[in-house]
Amino acid sequence: MASCELEPCACPYCRGSNHTLWAVERGFRTVKCSDCGFLYLNPRPNAASRHQSTQLGVHGAADDMDISERYLPKKVAQYRAILRECFADVWQRDKPISWLDIGAGYGEVVEAVSSLAPQGSAVIGVEPMQVKARAARQRGLNIVTAFLGPETPRCEFASLINVFSHVNDFDAFLRDVAGVLEDEGELFIETGDVGELATRDDFPGELGLPDHVAFAGSKHLAGFLDRNGFDVVSVQRASIDGYLYTLKNVIKRAVGRDVVMKMPYRSPYRTMRVRAKKRAPMPR
Ligand SMILES: [Zn+2]
Repeated sequence: MASCELEPCACPYCRGSNHTLWAVERGFRTVKCSDCGFLYLNPRPNAASRHQSTQLGVHGAADDMDISERYLPKKVAQYRAILRECFADVWQRDKPISWLDIGAGYGEVVEAVSSLAPQGSAVIGVEPMQVKARAARQRGLNIVTAFLGPETPRCEFASLINVFSHVNDFDAFLRDVAGVLEDEGELFIETGDVGELATRDDFPGELGLPDHVAFAGSKHLAGFLDRNGFDVVSVQRASIDGYLYTLKNVIKRAVGRDVVMKMPYRSPYRTMRVRAKKRAPMPR
């Protein structure tokens, strides 16, 4: 671990500075804010180091931890089922839409949305990690190698699938998302509820430090959305700790990773899936 690249930080949710140690993984510390309960990596790799890791898929600050993953075809079917239900009203309208997946990875969500969206829709993604975006383009998907930014095209719908925990300043990030969404555009967010678990042992698996820098509870996610101009439309929760998940953890544990083991389906941890709508601008 290259300690020179680490910097201390205040709570990304309430800016408070009091905290207690919550978990240690790969030598990195996650702390719990004493004021609001938010969990965050502290100290954390500095912005330049994180920016580079996200583009290259390797964490220089963590013994070259590989975060590039791989294309998972089963994720296409999984997100197709999730989004078919969550946005049933949109598909039924049968009117072309524009959808942007932010942090699109290998493009599984872009594929899933493309298979649901009415003909004539524009479904695109932005993904800063070069290897992922390139692989997605090679499969014919419209995914640009980029961070969300001023060049990102505007859209009616945006999705953030497992992006939350990678973002240092989610307030600033949500303002950028609001900037690319059309008026009354909609946002879909998926992230875990680690931020409301009582102890580290309630999370069945690895926290993914230092790649993951922040962990929300439902109140934090709702607060971030509200104060950045979004109204929550629906919230779904799902457990992930089935037999296959537990088996993967057995293997990770066997190769020496910091994994907490739970019997299948016994963990209180849930994935949160939130649909939110950008608030209409206040009339002058
Ligand atoms: Zn706080």
